[in-house]
Amino acid sequence: MKIISINAGSSSLKFSLFNMTDESVIASGLFERIGIEGSKYTIKFNGEKISQEIELNTHTDAVKVLLDKLVDLGIIHSLDEIDGVGHRLVHGKDKYSESVIITDEVVEDLEKFKCFAPLHNPANILGINAFREVLPNVPMVGVFDTAFHQSMDATTYLYPVPYSWYQDYGVRKYGFHGTSHRYITNMVKNILGKDEFRLISCHIGNGGSITAVKDGKCVDTSMGFTPLAGIMMGTRSGDIDPSIIPYVMEQEGKNASEVIDDLNKKSGLFGISEYSSDMRDILERCDLQDEKAVIARDKYVRRVVDYIAQYYVLLGGADVIAFTAGVGENSIPVRRQICEELACLGVKIDLDQNNKRGEVVKISTDDSSIAVYVISTDEELMIARDTLDLINR
Ligand code: ADP
Repeated sequence: MKIISINAGSSSLKFSLFNMTDESVIASGLFERIGIEGSKYTIKFNGEKISQEIELNTHTDAVKVLLDKLVDLGIIHSLDEIDGVGHRLVHGKDKYSESVIITDEVVEDLEKFKCFAPLHNPANILGINAFREVLPNVPMVGVFDTAFHQSMDATTYLYPVPYSWYQDYGVRKYGFHGTSHRYITNMVKNILGKDEFRLISCHIGNGGSITAVKDGKCVDTSMGFTPLAGIMMGTRSGDIDPSIIPYVMEQEGKNASEVIDDLNKKSGLFGISEYSSDMRDILERCDLQDEKAVIARDKYVRRVVDYIAQYYVLLGGADVIAFTAGVGENSIPVRRQICEELACLGVKIDLDQNNKRGEVVKISTDDSSIAVYVISTDEELMIARDTLDLINR
């Protein structure tokens, strides 16, 4: 069985082709600058990487080139080998709590919910329509970023604002990165060999969110109505006092969406350091005693620790803390600093283990009160698994 996982952006399309017999990646790649001058694709397979500039006016062009290349390069013999296509979909509101076979109704809902994810949902629809045109008979599955978080209860997902905002406009916490948190939850389930555990899953990359999981289900997550909420990120502020927004609008003569743009693109690590949104750059500057870089790093760590502490109480303790995504999987000093700030909870980091790399590494000592793991996330594989599962049903 071969399944393609697709992540369509407004001008890009990422893919991974899986052989589901052993869940290996046969090929993966990126089509970028779709509809913009200088469009190109990159395909990786068999340890090789090919890249070519090619005119791609629409997502359908990209899908046609992708499928042609898969055959031309001998990656597959014919398109009949593709058994299913799984799409990463961002916003399924509170209607979708699990992955679904894509039907007209799903596409209509994506359209209906686009005010909740104005950049992502329209791009997801482009991706779906492109595959519908080129591979009309292959089943497709939608995997929502919001789905895993739909198990939160009303006390958690409601904001303390007029109830009518929720009722009339859908103002509530939705949560994102659900596919990654679900993947980490499944990995922890396998590591512990049981279904009942309290997990704090820390997906910390350029974007970041922390999720509290009890017995396999999300009970709270740090992102909210949008992915701007929660911890501090590469360029996003995370939670701030909302009154800052009208104040800055007045000071800078900006409108609300311009200030929100600053909170999305000019804040976080980048905002405080005035240098970079990339943790590697920040850590380099910290080594040079750059004051703003040090504050940026420390504030980033503080916000992660704040959420872990909050979820520790919510879960009534924790069995596992898991780190994943760019910073979580790679940044040895950031993991160390977070764990050291959690010492009062009885967390003890094993510094040798923390230096190791791998799919799954336990970085806490045996006498740590909470087991701490680094686990590489794999949203594409999760999408492929859901796709296979649904088309087999
Ligand atoms: P996205 O949210 O865009 O998927 P990623 O999960 O790829 O982002 O994470 C990107 C972040 O991971 C960047 O801040 C980058 O600095 C950080 N990162 C990647 N490798 C390292 C490393 N070796 N040390 C520290 N940070 C790293």
